[in-house]
Amino acid sequence: CGIVGYIGYREAYPIVIKGLKRLEYRGYDSAGVMLYDGEAIKLSKTKGKVSDLEAKAEKEISTNGTIGIGHTRWATHGVPNDVNSHPHVSNSGDLVIIHNGIIENYAPLKVELIKRGYTFTSDTDSEVLINLIEEVQKKEKLKLGKAVQVALNQVVGAYAIAVFDKKNPNEIVAARLGSPLAIGIGEGEYFIASDASPFIEYTSNAVYLEDGEMANIRLHRPMKVRKIKDDSIVDPYIQELQM
Ligand code: GLU
Repeated sequence: CGIVGYIGYREAYPIVIKGLKRLEYRGYDSAGVMLYDGEAIKLSKTKGKVSDLEAKAEKEISTNGTIGIGHTRWATHGVPNDVNSHPHVSNSGDLVIIHNGIIENYAPLKVELIKRGYTFTSDTDSEVLINLIEEVQKKEKLKLGKAVQVALNQVVGAYAIAVFDKKNPNEIVAARLGSPLAIGIGEGEYFIASDASPFIEYTSNAVYLEDGEMANIRLHRPMKVRKIKDDSIVDPYIQELQM
């Protein structure tokens, strides 16, 4: 149950893998990574250790790309296996999520999405959330951040999430309720992680999201933080970490 993300100018893969290893103490049964190289979403995931993920990823995908998200899973919905591992991709193939936590009301949401034609490849609550975000985005013609916000307001549960949209690839949207999430701020780069250990060597500036907050993390723009419930803007408190 750990999250790592990177958006910037460096190769994301080594940062994400090293970060996942630093979060191993949190415990997990599977691991996965998504990389974006400016053209394609590349996905690799497996039951087992981060070292198993490395072996698999380096065989099945090209690991270049300056945007990446990675996850260690502690299964709550669906057995630990490759398919249930994160990241999860929406039906269109455009949206990708990593999620720590539990979506309590995933069952009725899933029934509703199936009625609207969505199909599911995993047994996870997290795959329901990414398709809910997609449905909201399509129906209401919203940008990713707005769609995430509307979807999260229909969800009961706990989460730390990072979401990527191939249609607008200079951005990662992150949100938290009940699970920790830290954002590292560098020059021309951002880091996202369950705690600061994956990015402490790159930057000493971090924002810890509070429960109920979400962040639009965009390349070459200041980060925007707002409350999920009422959309009010939050002035993020940038903490100076001790290296
Ligand atoms: N509930 C999600 C799952 O079972 C996320 C579990 C986690 O926190 O790692 O896939």
